Amino acid sequence: MLAEIKGLNEECGVFGVWGHPDSAQLTYYGLHSLQHRGQEGTGIVVSDGDKLRVVKGEGLVSEIFTADVMEKLKGTSAIGHVRYATAGGGGYENVQPLLFHSQTGSLALAHNGNLVNANYLKHQLETQGSIFQTSSDTEVLAHLIRRSGFSDIKDQVKNALSMLKGAYAYLILTENELMVALDPNGLRPLSLACLGDAYVVASETCAFDVIGAEYIRDIRPGELVVINKDGISSEQFAFNSTKSICTMEYVYFSRPDSNIQGINVHTARKNMGKRLAAEAPIEADVVTGVPDSSISAAIGYAEASGIPYEMGLIKNKYVGRTFIQPTQSLREQGVKMKLSAVRGVVEGKRVVMVDDSIVRGTTSRRIVNLLKEAGATEVHVVISSPPIKNPCFYGIDTSSKEELIASDKSVEEIRELIGADSLTFLSKEGMVGAIVNTEGTEGFCLGCFTGNYPTEIYPDTLQYYYQK
Ligand code: SF4
Repeated sequence: MLAEIKGLNEECGVFGVWGHPDSAQLTYYGLHSLQHRGQEGTGIVVSDGDKLRVVKGEGLVSEIFTADVMEKLKGTSAIGHVRYATAGGGGYENVQPLLFHSQTGSLALAHNGNLVNANYLKHQLETQGSIFQTSSDTEVLAHLIRRSGFSDIKDQVKNALSMLKGAYAYLILTENELMVALDPNGLRPLSLACLGDAYVVASETCAFDVIGAEYIRDIRPGELVVINKDGISSEQFAFNSTKSICTMEYVYFSRPDSNIQGINVHTARKNMGKRLAAEAPIEADVVTGVPDSSISAAIGYAEASGIPYEMGLIKNKYVGRTFIQPTQSLREQGVKMKLSAVRGVVEGKRVVMVDDSIVRGTTSRRIVNLLKEAGATEVHVVISSPPIKNPCFYGIDTSSKEELIASDKSVEEIRELIGADSLTFLSKEGMVGAIVNTEGTEGFCLGCFTGNYPTEIYPDTLQYYYQK
């Protein structure tokens, strides 16, 4: 459930439309379906071909975009963003899309991911005279675009992108163009669809389904797509691109009804459960999943093991994700409010409890406790990913290394701390094999599990993460 991660970095969602009279309304629906990727702030920038207008604020999509507000957002293209707090902190100024005006026109940016050389670039830009309005790494791209020296906006963007390192799925909107760029490792998901003659782009395909858009394809690592009145065009801005998509998108972050690179997230999770059953056969009476993100894996475990799946844990859906709550005390309150064990299901039973990850271990300990208090005679915890031992530098909010329970504890030590009768993690080969059914782990980022990251990590970024 990844519910106890400390909120110091971001996981966001982006959505864009080109060539539709209801572009803002479609973006509203798209962002609503991406709300699970960030609940702290949201914004939409719309273009009527002449001017860019922005509405944004801190809160949920349904809170910021009231009917009155939507009335003001008229235009045929739009980009939107849902945001989780960044390393630079929360606050209105960091809510995206960011909108910039210059003598040559306006430009709006929406970014999902995290740059690993943002501090380095910011320092360089500041010594050359730039002044930053936000503490977000996204603003760096706007400065690089305007300073590139090229006259054509596409060349400006390509030149700016070539200086960035890390994870980025960018939507860039000008008065008359929508540009879409994905980093050379394709760390974050980003897909393209059409809706009649209009084009739509989103972090997850579940956003297409909600507006009836037809999926075309995923954006390729190192690809820049430009959509304007002349149609759609694409080119590689990076040729040394190597796909390394984030495995945690499949394990936890994305919605089960989304497809990433043609693979359904629910199916991948279910396969993780099946692989777990093969790697960790357990004698038990019932299998239960920690809602919501572990239900698919629990179904897979039950199917493969022959142990019946039961709803042993119930989530109170009117409590926000503990994942977004910033303080430890709020998190502690939140877990109890959020989950209940079903006594009628678990009492007197040996329970297999499937969860997607263990970060600090505190949530796992509480859930094991809940099940035991409700009368479970044994609780066997099985985790559908390997131990998270390292921080993520690419826009996922993992704790600092010191706070990750697996960074310095063995599986047996963790089992003891969370009070489980047994504890098993899925192997990294099992996790990737569940997604793509291959032997190796190529094509995926496993940085937080292995410590081997697909990009260089700049010293100042490392220093920040290890000091936070
Ligand atoms: S380090 Fe982990 S969470 Fe971050 S992108 Fe890689 S797999 Fe995803």
